[in-house]
Amino acid sequence: MVIKPRIRGFICTNAHPVGCAAHVQEQIDFVKAQPKVEGPKRVLIIGCSTGYGLSSRIVSTFGAGADTLGVCFEKEPTERKTGTAGWYNVAAFHEKARAEGFYAETLNGDAFSDELKEQTIAKIKENMEQVDLVVYSLASPKRLDPETGTLYSSTLKPVGQAYTTKTYDTDKDLVHDVSLEPATEEEIANTVKVMGGEDWERWIKALSEAGVLAQNCQTTAYTYIGKELTWPIYGHATIGKAKEDLDRAAAALREGYTELGLNAYVSSLKAVVTQASSAIPVMPLYISLMYKVMKEAGTHEGCIEQIYRLFTEALYVDNPELDEAHRLRMDGKETNDETQAVIKGVWDQVNQDNFHDLADYKGYHQDFLKLFGFGIDGVDYDADVNPVVNW
Ligand code: NAD
Repeated sequence: MVIKPRIRGFICTNAHPVGCAAHVQEQIDFVKAQPKVEGPKRVLIIGCSTGYGLSSRIVSTFGAGADTLGVCFEKEPTERKTGTAGWYNVAAFHEKARAEGFYAETLNGDAFSDELKEQTIAKIKENMEQVDLVVYSLASPKRLDPETGTLYSSTLKPVGQAYTTKTYDTDKDLVHDVSLEPATEEEIANTVKVMGGEDWERWIKALSEAGVLAQNCQTTAYTYIGKELTWPIYGHATIGKAKEDLDRAAAALREGYTELGLNAYVSSLKAVVTQASSAIPVMPLYISLMYKVMKEAGTHEGCIEQIYRLFTEALYVDNPELDEAHRLRMDGKETNDETQAVIKGVWDQVNQDNFHDLADYKGYHQDFLKLFGFGIDGVDYDADVNPVVNW
């Protein structure tokens, strides 16, 4: 099959197996070119197949020399239809990690379910005994609550009042205004159910009760805090309310597992192009402007650079710097006032006519295509490739 990108709205509905493997290799090469990480040796990554979770897995293995067990929700390929990018990323990661003698296995299914938690515990007991780091990196629009059987959906809406702002439609290459109605109380509560801390706490409880968390184990969940430009749709919006609940959960985890010496952190990461961020109104416009500003300032970072620094400057140092809510902050290069002022300056000017000049239009698109294994140098996109790749 010759595979070309099929883009529908903010998503690409297919993926290229060779390109995805090259994207994984690129991240491995980055990590291998850095000093070794004094870090974890047995890691569970929940949400391991794309974005920040995949980078966490790559830094764990190729930086710190860790065995990993991953959890994700991806679609398997068939003879006629490609798998999702995450499927191919996992296949490539397994191959490369195992080739260097590391244990790497992945469970594909619903991380919110009790069944998957049980399967994960069984795998850890069988192959790793215990884990010393649990990374929680899920981004999902829905969650089936295993206790009640209720299916909750998250909403991306402002809280309190309607909000009109600029946005960028990546598919139509169009900058236009978008008006978002405020969320109802129920929509806020449902978003907290999906993207808040409840499931993270359920994971830690299940893992701890099964005795598979090592003494002084660490766990981290990821958040985006951002600044004024994104607050109305992110930080102070429905998703921001869910992220506030992660802070509550982290505090509860720190207090609840003192005997285990569990250290639980919310880590705040910068905005990057991922499948999750592409789906959030305003974020593609903000990210493409921010990329231009940060690239020009020489401060640009993608997932792998952020996670490498998270491990080496925060998670695995004595007395890491914490913010007022006990969070690890890796987003300072983006959220500092000076950088934000420059982004705000171009934000106020940007329109359909000048977008390609003011924004890192090319960089955004390149990163977006790369998520699905397209547009990568050295990959022959005219070649006939077998979409069926097994783990
Ligand atoms: P992503 O879409 O690239 O990755 C999501 C991961 O979750 C994938 O591995 C996917 O398979 C998995 N997943 C989703 N639903 C699942 C389910 N039901 N069961 C099992 N696995 C499931 O997202 P991302 O952007 O890397 O986001 C990861 C975390 O990082 C999120 O908490 C997000 O809020 C946070 N974050 C993202 C950004 C950003 O700009 N992208 C910035 C800061 C923080």
